[in-house]
Amino acid sequence: MITKIDHVGIAVSDLAEARKFYEEVLGIKVTATEEVSEQKVVTAFLPLGDSELELLVPTAPDSPIARFIEKRGEGIQHIALRVENIEAALQKLKKAGVRLIDEEPRQGAGGARIAFLHPKATGGVLFELCERK
Ligand code: ZN
Repeated sequence: MITKIDHVGIAVSDLAEARKFYEEVLGIKVTATEEVSEQKVVTAFLPLGDSELELLVPTAPDSPIARFIEKRGEGIQHIALRVENIEAALQKLKKAGVRLIDEEPRQGAGGARIAFLHPKATGGVLFELCERK
C-alpha cells in the first residue's frame, strides 16, 4: 500500500531565511514553489534523492502552519507516505478503525492527491498520504 517516503514537511516562518540554510549551507536546491490558497500556505520543494523536503510557510495568521509554529515552533510538521491508490489506502485505514482528518483525497501541491491521518491515531505523527501520477 505504501511505497516510500514521498516527502517530509517542515514548517518555517521565513522562506528567504530558510532557503539560505537549505540552499547555501546544505546545498539542497528549491526547484519549485507553489501557493496552496486553501491551506493558506506557500510550499517550496527541495528534491533530495528519491524523496523531497517540503518547506511550508504560512501566508495568514489563521493558516494551520501558522498555528503549528505558534504552538510548537518551526520544525517537522508532517511525513508524507507515497501510495499508489489513495482511495484504496483510505478505505483500508478506515476499515482498520484509523481516525482520518481527510476521508476523501484533496488537491495538494505539485498536482498530488493527498489526505491526512489524525495524529491521535498514529502515535503523534501527522502522516499525509500522497498519490502522484
Ligand atoms: Zn506534504
